[in-house]
Amino acid sequence: MIKKIFRQAARKTKSILACSKVFAGIIRCLPSWAVNLKKIVRVELEVSSACNLSCSFCPVGNKKVPPGLMDLVTHNKIIDLLPKTIRLISYSYRGDVTLNPDFPKMIKYAHEKGFETFISTNGMLIDKYIDELVKSGLDKIYFTIDGATQDLQGKYRVGSDLEKIKSNIRLLVDARKHSLSKYPKEIAVQSVVSRYNETEIPDLVKLVEDLGVDKIIFKTLAVNVGGAYIKGKDFHENLFPENVKYRRKTNLLLCPFIEACAILHNGDISVCCTDYGAKYILGNIIRENSFENIIYGKKNRGLRKSVLLRTLGICADCPITGDLWIPEISRVFPQKKSK
Ligand code: SF4
Ligand code: SF4
Repeated sequence: MIKKIFRQAARKTKSILACSKVFAGIIRCLPSWAVNLKKIVRVELEVSSACNLSCSFCPVGNKKVPPGLMDLVTHNKIIDLLPKTIRLISYSYRGDVTLNPDFPKMIKYAHEKGFETFISTNGMLIDKYIDELVKSGLDKIYFTIDGATQDLQGKYRVGSDLEKIKSNIRLLVDARKHSLSKYPKEIAVQSVVSRYNETEIPDLVKLVEDLGVDKIIFKTLAVNVGGAYIKGKDFHENLFPENVKYRRKTNLLLCPFIEACAILHNGDISVCCTDYGAKYILGNIIRENSFENIIYGKKNRGLRKSVLLRTLGICADCPITGDLWIPEISRVFPQKKSK
């Protein structure tokens, strides 16, 4: 409990500082080596830049990102090169992890090396991997459901089949229940709140609770995913919810993602997980045989300071530096509390 209060207070302080002009001014004056005082604690690891859906706003779904898969040998080498300051590996960047048939083996490898692991998936193909997944040691899995009816779900998640996703979630919930290990520790659904579904929130909560998952997390809508308005700015902005409480506030002067980076399927390390066009590459972890030299070496200090101060070209219209989640309507379900 005390730990939780401490964590909440630390988060609040960080977010106040990140919005403070005075604090941003102090950071601007610091030498660029000082940026290395902030270590990378989270990596977005792209083991698939391919996807089976065509979501309206997504550069992957709109074929703007070349599809590619990481092989198991490359993956394991990357894991071996990651320093222990990294706590979490998120297997979700451009594309859906389930397109890579080796992904449960990858998660198992990372888990055995002591990393916390997370995946976010559209859930359409997860039935092929249920047994492997519960044995992999995966910590968290988030499924994306944005509508309580097929009509609503299909508006944003183009090509998805709500019944199939529901059935796949039930398979995983059931497999965990009957496993000895009880992994994944957290099975959740995340929903993006848009003009399409903002009045359907209670239906969505009811649907998700009936699936037996641990929680539903509501997320604010980012219309310019990867810094691009795929269908034109007006079209996308008209999809913001009418209720302003559900809109993302992006008032941070400093970028919180200085503590994270993305590794693409070819080993390139990008400064930020909104760099869908891979324009800001710090180096290649496989070719250079090092993560730390690339991230903390002299060559990239200036670029990393630009990330912190949000002065890169992509930062001007950054879709992710703000309130990503909507805790007021998100829910933890009873079975989670009684575990
Ligand atoms: S948002 Fe996710 S599920 Fe949809 S097309 Fe993009 S990568 Fe695929
Ligand atoms: S676009 Fe800029 S501000 Fe946004 S997450 Fe990336 S580095 Fe940070």
